[in-house]
Amino acid sequence: MQHILVLGAGGFIGTHLTDRLKQEGAWVRGADLKRPEFSTSTADEFVTGDLRDQRFCVSLFDRPFDEVYQLAADMGGAGFIFTGENDADIMHNSATISLNVLDCATKAKCRRIFYSSSACIYPERNQEDPDNPDCREHTAYPADPDSEYGWEKLFSERLYQTYARNKNIEVRIARYHNIFGPLGTFEGGREKAPAALCRKAALANDGGSLEIWGDGRQTRSFLYVDECIEGTLRLMRSDISEPLNIGSEEMVSIADLAARIIAISSKSLTVSNKDGPLGVRGRNSNNDLIRAQLGWSPTAPLNDGLRATYDWIESKVVRSDG
Ligand code: NAD
Repeated sequence: MQHILVLGAGGFIGTHLTDRLKQEGAWVRGADLKRPEFSTSTADEFVTGDLRDQRFCVSLFDRPFDEVYQLAADMGGAGFIFTGENDADIMHNSATISLNVLDCATKAKCRRIFYSSSACIYPERNQEDPDNPDCREHTAYPADPDSEYGWEKLFSERLYQTYARNKNIEVRIARYHNIFGPLGTFEGGREKAPAALCRKAALANDGGSLEIWGDGRQTRSFLYVDECIEGTLRLMRSDISEPLNIGSEEMVSIADLAARIIAISSKSLTVSNKDGPLGVRGRNSNNDLIRAQLGWSPTAPLNDGLRATYDWIESKVVRSDG
């Protein structure tokens, strides 16, 4: 039986990943600052504690795990990572976690570790044209991410790669592009665009309005969490040691995203625009490398994931409202 450690197991992706690993029959230890907010973890053991604390980290690594998934990070949507107000925490907290985890994983002789990087590492200059962003993996350098969150992810990618070179541990790195789905945070300031728009549409009265940040022409792609987990496991169990995009190539403008969510809500809502933190003008996953390396890439239509996410968020906000 595989023994697997999931760090960040109380978070959105960590919760889904734990479920999938349990379905496959692994023994799973999960660790996080907090338990999952919207479900009960299926991990065999769930340990709460702070991965910035070296002693806590050491206590988790009591065996040479077959696989370690390092998803814990101080993160959020644009309202958290692009305002500048949280930059010191983002850099300090997330870097400290990875420094501690790598040290412990190598000392415990773990064989392989997965690290969740982000599309936010790509240089701003490649993402100024909303219709033609360039996020091919090799364009990450010369580096110029538009946020400190992106710089920290880039530093950590390099940190993991140095451990692979010098410390006898195999490393797999995914650059996730906007993952969404049920069990993801949808309020409180750390939520991302799909969840925020689903919440706003679910709470709006028919005939009311739906607020979006910016002019709505900025573009993104969004990957449903099930395909994120599938890609993560395929990458982890491959021999690809370079960072790979895990994202959707179905790029939409934020105005288009809002229109799709309004259609799903079956309400008549008018879109209104508001100033807000935006990030780059355009971003889309480029899946040439993952297709070539893994013979796989995400294919699920955006609308299917939006429908599932809207239904889940609607059930949450309507219940808490009523
Ligand atoms: P999330 O915020 O839901 O999960 C992260 C978890 O890390 C949280 O449960 C949090 O409590 C935990 N954590 C933070 N600091 C900790 C600490 N000091 N000790 C222990 N646990 C701590 O985020 P997510 O969406 O599940 O993302 C998982 C990973 O994927 C993160 O590293 C994130 O940067 C990366 N990523 C996510 C996306 C996305 O769209 N969701 C995109 C790119 C990259």
